[in-house]
Amino acid sequence: MNKRNVFRFLDEPREMPQRIPLALRTAGDWNELYGRFDQGEAALQSSRCLDCGNPYCEAKCPVHNYIPNWLRLVEEGRILEAAALCHETNPLPEMCGRVCPQDRLCEGACTLNDGFGAVTIGAVEKYIVDTAFAEGWRPDLSKVVATGKRVAVVGAGPAGLSCAERLARHGIDAVVFDRYEQIGGLLQFGIPSFKLDKSVIATRREVLEDMGVQFRLGVEIGRDVGLDALLEEYDAVFLGLGAYRYTDGGLPGQDLDGVLPALPFLVQNGRVVTGLEPEGRPIAGWEDRVAVPDLRDRRVVVLGGGDTGMDCVRSAIRLGAAAVTCVYRRDEANMPGSAREVANAREEGVSFLFNRQPLAVEAGADGGVAGVRVVETRLGTPDAHGRSRPEPVPGSESTVAADVVVIAFGFSPETPDWLLANGVETAGNGRILAGGEGRLPYQTAHPRLFAGGDAVRGADLVVTAVQEGRDAAAAIARLLHAGQPRRAALDAA
Ligand SMILES: Cc1cc2nc3c(=O)[nH]c(=O)nc-3n(C[C@H](O)[C@H](O)[C@H](O)COP(=O)(O)OP(=O)(O)OC[C@H]3O[C@@H](n4cnc5c(N)ncnc54)[C@H](O)[C@@H]3O)c2cc1C
Ligand code: SF4
Repeated sequence: MNKRNVFRFLDEPREMPQRIPLALRTAGDWNELYGRFDQGEAALQSSRCLDCGNPYCEAKCPVHNYIPNWLRLVEEGRILEAAALCHETNPLPEMCGRVCPQDRLCEGACTLNDGFGAVTIGAVEKYIVDTAFAEGWRPDLSKVVATGKRVAVVGAGPAGLSCAERLARHGIDAVVFDRYEQIGGLLQFGIPSFKLDKSVIATRREVLEDMGVQFRLGVEIGRDVGLDALLEEYDAVFLGLGAYRYTDGGLPGQDLDGVLPALPFLVQNGRVVTGLEPEGRPIAGWEDRVAVPDLRDRRVVVLGGGDTGMDCVRSAIRLGAAAVTCVYRRDEANMPGSAREVANAREEGVSFLFNRQPLAVEAGADGGVAGVRVVETRLGTPDAHGRSRPEPVPGSESTVAADVVVIAFGFSPETPDWLLANGVETAGNGRILAGGEGRLPYQTAHPRLFAGGDAVRGADLVVTAVQEGRDAAAAIARLLHAGQPRRAALDAA
């Protein structure tokens, strides 16, 4: 092998794949913003890796990808081997390569991030898997021994899909149920196509089906099929239900026409953009707000600074809004949204009002929205999570003019009654309690029920849901291979 030039980063700057030109984006282009590297570009960017020997990038990546190793394979043009290595740690690498907030995960920890520009890890991960799939590569299951065991997976989001993928590698038949007609969870019905093209999810579905994973879509557990029936038919059940309960800011005026909850707004747009029928499924408390609003020439204010807020502001730009403002109660450094997405939003024309706490949505003479009353904040003592609490500055109130307000304060899990009836325990905030002393990882109080992703952690990230689905599958495999295959014995345990 040729000796590597470990100082390549001195001559070659960090480059991301080309982006869709700004003029097209602001004119309503919903295509994936970042294009793809070609082999030469991917190899060049990979060659910037220092191979530090103590890869902080791997440590910071929640699934602990073997990053320097697959960068080296790309440099050498060995893409199919790189794809196999990516999948050893990550069941959905093409999704994570696209939507992970790399600036605070792998790339944020890259040694070169300190002055030279981090290696473009996410874009290379996307390149590897897209290229391998296009060349017909598929995970090799030729050495897998079928166990005859069957597991039901409830929820086809990243947690459920990752669990199913790993179960297939353990020789366990996985049947995935979802109330939606497509797989992906928030990847499909939440994250807009300018961050993740939906054809990527369709390809992953084909790959999973080739691996033997089965899907039962349009089926809601607890309504169409009971949990008892799943426990009767399957050896174990994994719950990847997500987190869909709105954080209610209790703002006066939030019931006005022209105030929209973030997720239905994004979901309806996503459905229209991808050619699906807008859905009629109401969200509790917002039953009348499911239509796609006409934002042309309107002033839109989005309340909240997380990923959801960023997706809303950038969607509003593509829907032709006259002005889009994001109002956030802390400063920019404390924003939960990815810094890369904030930069993209700014470039697309979004204004940011930091250190402003919304107090009320104000009505105009016509009964619609006229603006949002806000108060300035300064950051005070840290809260239980170590984040500075925003404290209102007396006498600093003002109004931000608006025709439409989108509320993006975040989500938390809500454990359904049918789970509680089966002895599953929850934390006070609706999170399913899984793992802990005397249990396998991700095992709930019911020995054959496992859970992971947002339903267990609270609203978080795709990659953490992937990690939990992956590790829950390993725990389920341990349970089912542990010499206790009889369900009655397991229930009695
Ligand atoms: C707008 C938005 C943008 C985001 N952007 C990013 C981002 O850029 N990067 C990032 O890393 N994270 C992002 N996130 C967070 C990320 O999407 C979630 O953390 C992740 O999807 C959680 O995965 P999950 O599998 O736990 O749940 P979900 O993706 O929510 O999937 C849960 C699935 O379970 C199904 N389900 C629930 N109950 C039932 C039932 N009873 N019967 C049948 N099916 C059921 C649901 O229909 C859904 O398909 C974003 C979130 C939102 C809302
Ligand atoms: S999974 Fe996410 S954090 Fe890990 S290497 Fe890929 S992009 Fe980075």
